Amino acid sequence: MTGNKPFEALSVETLPKRLGENEALTERIGKDISRWKVREVGDGNLNLVFIVEGDKGAAVVKQALPYVRLVGDSWPLPLKRSFFEYHALTRQQARAPGSVPAIYHFDETQALIVMEYLSPPYIILRRALIDGRELPNLARDIGLFMARTLFRGSDLSMVARERKADLALFADNVELCDITENLVFSDPYFDARMNRHTSPQLDGLVAELRADRDLKVEAQRLKHLFAANAETLLHGDLHSGSIMVTDTETRMIDPEFAFYGPIAFDVGMLLANFWMAFFSQRGHEENGSRDSMRAYLLKVTAETWAVFRAEFSHLWRTERTGMLYQRSLFEDQGDRLGAEQALDHMLSGIWTDLLGFAGIEVHRRILGLAHNADFETIADQDLRAKCETKALRFGRHIAVNRRQIHSIDEVNTLAALIEQESRI
Ligand code: ADP
Ligand code: MG
Repeated sequence: MTGNKPFEALSVETLPKRLGENEALTERIGKDISRWKVREVGDGNLNLVFIVEGDKGAAVVKQALPYVRLVGDSWPLPLKRSFFEYHALTRQQARAPGSVPAIYHFDETQALIVMEYLSPPYIILRRALIDGRELPNLARDIGLFMARTLFRGSDLSMVARERKADLALFADNVELCDITENLVFSDPYFDARMNRHTSPQLDGLVAELRADRDLKVEAQRLKHLFAANAETLLHGDLHSGSIMVTDTETRMIDPEFAFYGPIAFDVGMLLANFWMAFFSQRGHEENGSRDSMRAYLLKVTAETWAVFRAEFSHLWRTERTGMLYQRSLFEDQGDRLGAEQALDHMLSGIWTDLLGFAGIEVHRRILGLAHNADFETIADQDLRAKCETKALRFGRHIAVNRRQIHSIDEVNTLAALIEQESRI
C-alpha cells in the first residue's frame, strides 16, 4: 500500500491484497498471502481492528474510520485520531518500556497502525474483572505506567522546547477532546440527546443529580481543569477496556484520546473503573460469592495509588531535569527538604483532583452515552439499578467532598459502607 492513495477502509477480504507488500507485516507473519487468515475483532466503539495470522505469526491492524463506528456516518470523526494514537504509543513505549503493544508500522493516509498482537491468554481487563479474576501484578503495572508516562511527559522531565512541540502536536486532537469535554463533564448533568440510563429505576436519582448545584459546579471546575491545565501527555481514555491482561502481564492500548491535560485525569478515570467494578460485583454473584473479589478490587485501588506515588516520588528525586522545581533551587543548595515539600504539594493536588475526575467518570458511565459492561451485563434490571445507584452516590460524594477526603483508605471505607447499604 502506498501512502498516496486516498483513504479506503479495509475489509477482511481486501486486507491481504492491500497489505501483502507491507514489509513490516510480511516480516512478522509471512509473505504468502494465500495463507493469511484475517478476522475483524473490533469490539470498541470507534475503529476497525483486524487480527491477521500468517505462516510465521500474527499482528493486529487497527484502522480509523471517518466516522464513529458505533453510530455510523451521521457522526463524523477525523481519521487523524490514528495519528495521535500512533504518536502516543511511541511516547508511552519510550517512557514506560514494555507497557504497550510493539508498533510495527504506521500509515497516516490510510489511518492505520500495524502492531503486536496480544494473543490469548491476553484479554480485556474489564472482562477479567467481570469474571471475578484477581490479578496479582495489576496494581503495580498500572501504577508504574501512570507514574512514568505522566511524569516523563511533563515539564518536570522534558526539555521545555520539546514539551511545547508535543503540546502543539496533540493540541490538534480537538474532536476527541471534544468528546471527553461533552460526554464526561457535561452530558450526564442535563438531558443531553445521547444519554441513557436504567429506567425507570434511576429516574428519581437522575433528576436529583441534575438538580445538584454543588455537583454541577464541581463538574465544571473539573472540566475547566481538564481544558486549562496542560500538564502532561495523558493516555486520555485509561479505563479497564483500554488495558489487556494475562494472569501476570499488563498492557495499555488505545490512546487515541491522547492530549495534554492534568496528571490526575488518567489516574482518576482508572481508579473510577476499579470502583465501578467493585459496585458491579453484586450483579455477578450468581455463581458464588464475590466477597474476595470486592476486597481485591479495593486493595487494587489502594495499591495502584501507592505504587503511583512511590514511583512518581522516585522519578522526582532522580529524574527531575525539566524547568519546574529545578535542583538549583533545592538540592544543589543542600535543601532536600524544599524539594520534598514541593513533591508533597504536587501529590496532594493530584489526589484531590483525581477524586473529582473519578466521581464524574462514574456518573458518565451510568448516565451518559458510553456505558460499561460491568453494569450492562447485569441482566436483572432492578439488581443492576441497585449497583448503579450505589456507584452514583459514591461518585457524587467523592466529587463534591474531594477537598475533605485525605486518604484512599477513607474512600474505600466509604465505598464498602455504601456497597453494604441495604436500603438502596
Ligand atoms: P477502539 O479504539 O475502537 O475502542 P481498541 O483499540 O479498544 O479499539 O480495540 C478494540 C478491541 O480490539 C479491543 O477491545 C481488543 O479486544 C482488540 N485489540 C485491540 N488491540 C489489540 C492488540 N494489540 N492485540 C490484541 N487485541 C487487540
Ligand atoms: Mg478507542
